[in-house]
Amino acid sequence: KPPIIVRDFAAALGLKPFKLISELNQQGGFASMNSTIEEAVAVAVAEKHNFILEIKHRGEPAEKKAAAQEEVDPEEEEKRNLQPRPPVVCILGHVDHGKTSLLDRIRSANVVSGEAGGITQHIGAYQVERSGRKITFLDTPGHAAFTKMRARGAHVTDVAVLVVAADDGFMPQTDEALKHAQEAGVALIVAINKIDVKGANIDQVKTQMQQRNIAAEDWGGETITVPVSALKGEGVDTLLEMILLQADMLELQANPKAEASGLIVESEIDFGRGPMATVIVQRGTLKVGDALVCGTHFARVRAMFDDQGRNIKEAPPSTPVRVIGWSGTPDSGATFRAVKNAREAENLAEEEQLRLRQVATRAAAAPKEVSVDQLF
Ligand code: GDP
Ligand code: MG
Repeated sequence: KPPIIVRDFAAALGLKPFKLISELNQQGGFASMNSTIEEAVAVAVAEKHNFILEIKHRGEPAEKKAAAQEEVDPEEEEKRNLQPRPPVVCILGHVDHGKTSLLDRIRSANVVSGEAGGITQHIGAYQVERSGRKITFLDTPGHAAFTKMRARGAHVTDVAVLVVAADDGFMPQTDEALKHAQEAGVALIVAINKIDVKGANIDQVKTQMQQRNIAAEDWGGETITVPVSALKGEGVDTLLEMILLQADMLELQANPKAEASGLIVESEIDFGRGPMATVIVQRGTLKVGDALVCGTHFARVRAMFDDQGRNIKEAPPSTPVRVIGWSGTPDSGATFRAVKNAREAENLAEEEQLRLRQVATRAAAAPKEVSVDQLF
């Protein structure tokens, strides 16, 4: 039967070793980190700390299994901390069908007038509020960013709004965007745009939807479909409502108490402020002072700005925020996460650089080996 060692036993009970040692010594012993503990003593100590000690007597390596009564199961803890989070939405569609106009319309309808520092900044994503609830929009030109992020396996969007011009119908890029959205498994909403234009034909677009197995709700299908005019603003409110409805159905949640992690939307070097990156927080709450690592780059968050250029200290899940304090410019679609401190972030980034260099060296060396093989 393997002995019960102070160091291990303290860890199993979640006690600081010195605390356990002092408890044991109070009972007249001379325990140290590596001392063994009598079984009876161990059972008594465990009991005192609300644990039941099970000792296996079968000669197999005995696990000092402290069946916890108060021990926190990390999974349970995670579940308990889940909170609803805003949906992250991207707008896809054929060129000139009105993606940019729609994003501009939604953004401008929500700018709080007269607010200090209320100058809208194009940071690659923005957030609007409707009925006290937030919606995050990816605001990157075309669906290039979406495709790039997806190529990296990044899942940032929850809902894709597919814009189809009512006077033009489905076009090659509409189908391509639809395919991307379906492959990414995101919820789909179709916005039939330009309903103000002469020659707009909503029914024709709905027929095309039916042909693609994404029939509109009012045509017996399941796809939420909203006729809009990005130019005149008609239907845009309904679209936002439908996005929130879709978000409710998806029951989007995240743990704001966790260490922050999320995705890079875009990055650039600002002349005055150095490298900065727009990120979307996916889990946890990003705070000024946090140490981040993202591939070969790291950051100590010096300052954060929202889409209206306001200085913010904390960014909960689904918030797009511009982060200053990076060592370089991380790629869009890359994942970042907060770590213990700046030193660890820097070390991890360096390890990644080293790893990539080794991969590169090996790749460079590989052809030589092949040519040697070929000699035989
Ligand atoms: P994008 O290429 O998908 O980003 O399309 P844009 O937003 O740049 O729009 C292309 C053109 O269509 C522009 O000239 C817009 O003014 C126009 N447009 C966009 N939405 C509407 C709309 O709802 N009605 C009308 N009449 N024109 C629109
Ligand atoms: Mg555009």
